[in-house]
Amino acid sequence: MNETVLEKLKILAESAKYDVSCASSGTSRSGKKGMVGSAAGWGICHSFAEDGRCISLLKIMLTNYCMYDCAYCINRRSNDLPRATLSVTELVDLTIEFYRRNYIEGLFLSSGVVRSPDYTMERLVRVVKDLRLIHRFNGYIHMKSIPGASQELVNEAGLYADRLSVNIEIPNEKSLQTLAPEKDFKSVFAPMRYIQQGVLQSAEERKRFRHAPRFAPAGQSTQMIIGATADTDKDILRLSSALYQRPTMKRVYYSGFIPVNDYDNRLPALKQPPLVRENRLYQADWLLRFYEFKVDEIVNDAYPELDLEVDPKLSWALRNPHMFPVDINKADYELLLRVPGIGVKSAKMIVVSRRYSRLGSEQLKKIGVVMKKAQYFITCHELAMRTVNELTPENVRHILTQKKGRKLDDRQLTIQFQDVL
Ligand code: SF4
Repeated sequence: MNETVLEKLKILAESAKYDVSCASSGTSRSGKKGMVGSAAGWGICHSFAEDGRCISLLKIMLTNYCMYDCAYCINRRSNDLPRATLSVTELVDLTIEFYRRNYIEGLFLSSGVVRSPDYTMERLVRVVKDLRLIHRFNGYIHMKSIPGASQELVNEAGLYADRLSVNIEIPNEKSLQTLAPEKDFKSVFAPMRYIQQGVLQSAEERKRFRHAPRFAPAGQSTQMIIGATADTDKDILRLSSALYQRPTMKRVYYSGFIPVNDYDNRLPALKQPPLVRENRLYQADWLLRFYEFKVDEIVNDAYPELDLEVDPKLSWALRNPHMFPVDINKADYELLLRVPGIGVKSAKMIVVSRRYSRLGSEQLKKIGVVMKKAQYFITCHELAMRTVNELTPENVRHILTQKKGRKLDDRQLTIQFQDVL
């Protein structure tokens, strides 16, 4: 690799690290004769970027020049920072070279916007097209679609990329226009719609013609920045919930706002990214996707913000003690999923195992139930515990948020709770 490309690589990999929407899940394609690489179904594993949160792919920008001036972005036009642009050939060769050296198993490709959205998108499409058609690259490719790009270019990108994504960044159009005056929701949602149309149309065609080309087989994803505006968790999760109603939206990523431009007074003066909030949003997102929760059960007008002290499922359970205790040996699957400490896998195993014998606390532990939490919300064979209703939600919260080392023993608990028993 020549020195110039190495220098560009350092700059562009550094510039790409703030984009978190790049987990390589969602597609599976084994190696083929005459082709280079394969795509793993879940979590391909090598890392490259110095500090990217997703480091399994070569995570890089085509260019970090940008004609836009989004307040929250390190690469904004008005920032004075080292800039670089890779040619299409340089980027393609770099990907293949890294793949052959076993540094990476795929590519996450994004770009600043130069000249126009279509000009930039056209160059990104050439990268993925050359990789697939000239170099027969069969590994995972996640490509960012540029807001405002034309439908023709999005349609072409979908033929070569496994996943396409368009970042919403800010969950509220008014806030978006304050922080990114050159963008609006239309320029973000139009490419999302093109991707959806492409995926659905390809699925239809493949029903009729087995060899019809696949379009973005891993669907699409997006990212929202958390904490750069006054938008509440309710605003964010309602938008996520609406996006998940769309059949091709696979993941919404949440990125705690990193104050990279602290001189900009449109932004809050945060000392560090709101990582706990980011984590709670991921947990709430999980509840929406796998635990059959409705968004208004997690956040609503009365509870617009997620509880930072406890996870969203425990928070919901403490607000709804009348739903508990749940009888492990009788409750249906949906209700088991609501119990703090019981995950999807454990709930499924409980339903299967209780066909053969009544379950007690020992069996639940073996199944993987986190009894430390679940004990206050269940009844089961041989388990005689004080439940959330006897202890009160406030006291259960108190017990579960005790710091390690300050855990109360049973005798102290009896003293502490004797007034409520
Ligand atoms: S368009 Fe993208 S790269 Fe350009 S300033 Fe905005 S967020 Fe940054």
